[in-house]
Amino acid sequence: MVNFGSYDEFRKAAEETGYFINEDKEFVQALLDSINVNIDRYGYGACPCRLALGKKEKDLDIICPCNYRDPDLNDYGACFCGLYVSEEVLKGEKNLSSIPDRRISTLKTQEKSDDKIKELGHVKEIRKLKVPIYRCVVCGYLCGREQPPNKCPICKADSERFERIL
Ligand code: SF4
Repeated sequence: MVNFGSYDEFRKAAEETGYFINEDKEFVQALLDSINVNIDRYGYGACPCRLALGKKEKDLDIICPCNYRDPDLNDYGACFCGLYVSEEVLKGEKNLSSIPDRRISTLKTQEKSDDKIKELGHVKEIRKLKVPIYRCVVCGYLCGREQPPNKCPICKADSERFERIL
């Protein structure tokens, strides 16, 4: 699990994986403290800016770093909470704006795509592969193996954050 300790520790760990943290230390520390409260409450670090459902399997997409961090960094220069920021924002080359919560629309899209896969019969193709392909939903890392790794070698997300894509 990602370290949600102090600002300095968290920032160092993030920078080692190529991410940037908001420079407002007090603001970030308050977010980290809230994630730690969620770890105590639920047993996992649910996003401090969203309402957790309280069941890990239903909240996997919003365990920090959430599945929406990278697309939000690309499109808005920050994650939904403003904990992670892009390099452009950090350097003052881009201003922050409000960020819509991708979670709701993503869940709806997911339901539709599951139906589509069943409809197209992709299951037969999947069976032809020698090993399954897993994708880290946090950073997009792909691997072909029987089980997902315990930790993503790129972003350090836990194995539960991998989805089998083929
Ligand atoms: S929006 Fe930011 S703080 Fe919230 S879970 Fe995603 S990455 Fe973490």
